[in-house]
Amino acid sequence: MEEAFEPVTKRILQTSSKCLLQSNELHQYILETSVYPREPEPLKELRDATSTQPRKIMATAPDEGPLMALLLKLINAKKTIEIGVFTGYSLLLTALSIPDDGKITAIDINRETYEIGLPIIRNAGVEHKIDFIESPALPVLDKFLEHPENEGSFDYAYVDADKDNYLNYHERLMKLVRIGGIILYDNTLWGGSVAIPDDSLVPENLKFSRVHIIKLNKFLAADPRIHISHIPLGDGVTVCWRLS
Ligand code: SAH
Ligand code: CA
Repeated sequence: MEEAFEPVTKRILQTSSKCLLQSNELHQYILETSVYPREPEPLKELRDATSTQPRKIMATAPDEGPLMALLLKLINAKKTIEIGVFTGYSLLLTALSIPDDGKITAIDINRETYEIGLPIIRNAGVEHKIDFIESPALPVLDKFLEHPENEGSFDYAYVDADKDNYLNYHERLMKLVRIGGIILYDNTLWGGSVAIPDDSLVPENLKFSRVHIIKLNKFLAADPRIHISHIPLGDGVTVCWRLS
């Protein structure tokens, strides 16, 4: 982290690019003890293939994987939606966690990065579960909502794209995901920056999305239609369980 930041900013921001824990060593401990030893081989391969990408930092943190797989299995998710695919770590994880006749609608504005992971997804034998749509996500969700039969038809949604639209996605997903289904929002601690008390103390590159994440966090906390858990895994993940 740069010297120029105020002490309060330094203290609050994350200790490494991929973890909000107090030390990198503790993060490494978790990865090496329970995450990497159980990570399916195709996901390891996809992580390797992503490690040479200039924007590799965007990939879902591997320590979120076991939580996502657990939730998918607990609710017997069969039909899911993913907003923000990048090279496909979370997508492949989802595809490996749902049954053979499960379906994932995967939306991203960039097909090129999806194609980096695609050969690995194909080799893992799960490509048939994926319907990839190259588009901004909002119009796709609105299109789905034009057909009433899509309401409540999804079991699970993972949101990991443009942070300024998270509240718009929430409004749509609360109709598309069934009662008893789960919506997961990624990056809801935004590098720890959500806790910085004054916008003037926030590094420039975090400012824009921070405002939207803070709005989302407030909204979700007050939304009586969901049960939520805000978890400091990765860059922060919020699990929403639809109650009504
Ligand atoms: N879940 C991914 C990481 C996603 S990174 C993983 O596990 O690796 C964020 C992705 O959101 C990028 O690939 C970007 O192209 C995509 N994105 C950005 N704006 C978008 C939008 N409006 N609609 C859909 N995808 C978008
Ligand atoms: Ca993310």
